[in-house]
Amino acid sequence: MASESESESLLPKLSTTPKVLKVTNTEGSGLPSLSKYGNNNKFVEAVEQTSFFGTSENSMIWCNLDSCGLFMSFTVWCILLYCNGVILFNSFVSDEWLHGALHSFVVAMTLVAHMKVMFTNPGAVPKGAKAYSPSTHSVICGRCKSFRPPRAHHCTICGRCIVRMDHHCAWVNNCIGAKNQKHFILFLIYLHLASLYTLVLIIQRLYFCPVATCKFVREMFWNVLWSTAAVSFFAALFTFFMLLNQVQAIVSGLGAVDRQMQHEDLKNEKQQAAGGKPRPQAQPLRLRDIFGTGSILLWGCHTTVVFEDESKELGYTI
Ligand SMILES: [Zn+2]
Ligand SMILES: [Zn+2]
Repeated sequence: MASESESESLLPKLSTTPKVLKVTNTEGSGLPSLSKYGNNNKFVEAVEQTSFFGTSENSMIWCNLDSCGLFMSFTVWCILLYCNGVILFNSFVSDEWLHGALHSFVVAMTLVAHMKVMFTNPGAVPKGAKAYSPSTHSVICGRCKSFRPPRAHHCTICGRCIVRMDHHCAWVNNCIGAKNQKHFILFLIYLHLASLYTLVLIIQRLYFCPVATCKFVREMFWNVLWSTAAVSFFAALFTFFMLLNQVQAIVSGLGAVDRQMQHEDLKNEKQQAAGGKPRPQAQPLRLRDIFGTGSILLWGCHTTVVFEDESKELGYTI
């Protein structure tokens, strides 16, 4: 689901409120020049769009307003809560509350990871950003007009250039980039565990439970159990392959977009991208580039990623 094209950006529909700013000097600020307004006074009023949810620099909470992504994210929540409900009911029927509690914990960790991926800015490059290293090949994005660091790509759904963009995932309604890749990996791991756990408990219920309980379960919830098992099986399979994909991204140091472009280069026997931008050098990522500087014990928690040198990691300074 990677999105990289030369077409117009698909900007999210923002609920906007005009905000009036007083600006003393617009040079280098990214705001309209004074001459545009035919006003040479010291103060000038500029109108800036702001919103509560969105992906612009003035959005208070990062969240794509893409209807497809919102629907698919909601679907993930519904499926997880449905599976948890089935397991909790079975715990109630068989009086095995330990499994119900453990399953609820894993599902809760999955849902929190999902929220962290969805509401975390994945590494959008701000308008006034400059290259971290003077030797960096300077590329300005033709659509969002911001500086584009070496491993960044423009996402047409987010409408921004995202540092170390892997792909835009509709299941989490966000891009996967430098700042939320940890949460995405945790989401996949917890979802994989939740799916396997659901599958094991249902198989156990169907084949190894006491006769009286099985009779009740089979008569009342046979279809529910099998459909839950089927959903869990496909979720476990899907997350397994997605985790392999993330391992490939770490080992190669290239996101899905870069790997696709590299593949096309090899196919077309081209050494450089259009416009002369050199392809990023494949260099394996360190786990600290993904999970940050915190203790290894915290890597499995949903703490915000903090880099040793954020500017160096992201490839730009303000
Ligand atoms: Zn861009
Ligand atoms: Zn995106």
